Amino acid sequence: MPSRQIYLLSPKCLSPETIAVAFAKTSRVPDSFRDIAAELSDESSSKFHEKWVVGYGHSSVAEHAVLHLALENISRLAIECIESNRLASYTEKSTRYQKWGKTDFVIPPELEGHPLREEYIQAIQDLFKTYEDSLMPVRRLIEQQDPRRPNEDDEAWDRRLRSRYVDATRFLLPGAALANVGMTANARVLENAVRKMLSHPLAEVREIGEQVRDVSQGEAPTLVKYADKVPYLVETSQALENYEPEAAETQPSGDWCRLIDYDQDGEDKVLAAGLYRFSEMTFSQALEKVRSLSLDERQELADSMLGKLGPHDIPLRELEYCHYTFDLVMDQGAYAEFKRHRMMSQTPQKLTCRLGYAIPRLITEAGFSLAYQAAMDAAAETYEKLANWNPQVAAYVAPNGFNRRVLAQFNLREAYHFCQLRAASNAHFSIRRVAQQVAGEIRSVHPLLSKYMKIYAETREQIDKDHFSAVS
Ligand SMILES: Cc1cc2nc3c(=O)[nH]c(=O)nc-3n(C[C@H](O)[C@H](O)[C@H](O)COP(=O)(O)OP(=O)(O)OC[C@H]3O[C@@H](n4cnc5c(N)ncnc54)[C@H](O)[C@@H]3O)c2cc1C
Repeated sequence: MPSRQIYLLSPKCLSPETIAVAFAKTSRVPDSFRDIAAELSDESSSKFHEKWVVGYGHSSVAEHAVLHLALENISRLAIECIESNRLASYTEKSTRYQKWGKTDFVIPPELEGHPLREEYIQAIQDLFKTYEDSLMPVRRLIEQQDPRRPNEDDEAWDRRLRSRYVDATRFLLPGAALANVGMTANARVLENAVRKMLSHPLAEVREIGEQVRDVSQGEAPTLVKYADKVPYLVETSQALENYEPEAAETQPSGDWCRLIDYDQDGEDKVLAAGLYRFSEMTFSQALEKVRSLSLDERQELADSMLGKLGPHDIPLRELEYCHYTFDLVMDQGAYAEFKRHRMMSQTPQKLTCRLGYAIPRLITEAGFSLAYQAAMDAAAETYEKLANWNPQVAAYVAPNGFNRRVLAQFNLREAYHFCQLRAASNAHFSIRRVAQQVAGEIRSVHPLLSKYMKIYAETREQIDKDHFSAVS
């Protein structure tokens, strides 16, 4: 019997496209990966991809070519498109641990020569000035609560306090604020990402798409070079935007987290899937069996599936057979974190200044709420002027504190992950309130299977009281 071999095809020695071909060839060639790779050159790999991936559409081969892209000085608005790819990985400059300087914003190409350009720049500069002015007063408040430790230098003390005061001041940062993001993706994902970017309504995103395609060709010359604008995406977006909205339903205050749909049979399905996995029953038989159980027996079965979950364990995949759909409104800062949950299906509406804004309590306690509200109201005014001309570009001036509406569908397994991670005590209070409320809604409809979620012990009401002077 040939001995087991496990080894790396290292990107230190082979290009991403060559690694992809070495793996692809195992489908037809009996040789070892090592031997296959030894026969390949960049040129022969490129020819292989032209024939199989580009020509015959065997696209999964491109998944073995992985690239790492460093994107710098991109607006946080543009980053939304970049980070919209489920199968890619990202790390972005954090609004919780870093501060923004006065000139760290984008001026969108659409405004070149436009009469509103100066007003746009002024509005963004005003927001950045208010952001900067807010840092010290809020910091002083935190200093009183958390004094310097013996032998702690200025920098160490600031590092310790920063996330707390910056958490409150970040509400002022607009969509135009620049950030850096590292992205790891395979060439198949990247090709689709470039297509989306080239089809995007914002010029900044289209320009980034072209740059991403160009730099990717340095590492994977064949696999992304044909990525182009997708007329389907462009025309479909335009067609849907042309639908006249019905008179907008005003969302009753406090109704910002609506569970609009869920699997009525969800708990039964998850329990039945658990039985199915470890038996030889059909799914109908498993479902019938679950439905015949007494309350105690159901409890026991739920305990067997979830009772032994440790704090870092991922629950069984069978939890994916139960789904929830939420219509949510949260501040843009929270949305920026929410959107990172790639396993969800999410449909955000455009970022606007039309759904109201939150006021963090620390801003009020620092005596800064008048300046804060003046900056938010002024941004909203400029937003409306810009939106009359181009609502996509107008979103650049919308600060993080404004609310954003998003539709999200996810399964119970993702609900466990999202709620546990984002309700944790170290999460930002804006996303904590979303996670707590979502967990509460799920508990109310599926108490049996949600009770094993390990949620940090605080309530949404407490978060609102402790951290906000005003919130949706
Ligand atoms: C304390 C804290 C600090 C953070 N700081 C930053 C920061 O500074 N900058 C920043 O950009 N982000 C930051 N994040 C966001 C974080 O990096 C995640 O992007 C975000 O929490 C989404 O979570 P996720 O990737 O686990 O979940 P989801 O995308 O919801 O995925 C759910 C689960 O699926 C699995 N999964 C999904 N995709 C992959 C994959 N590609 N490979 C392997 N497994 C996968 C994992 O098990 C994951 O937990 C921070 C998060 C926390 C909790």
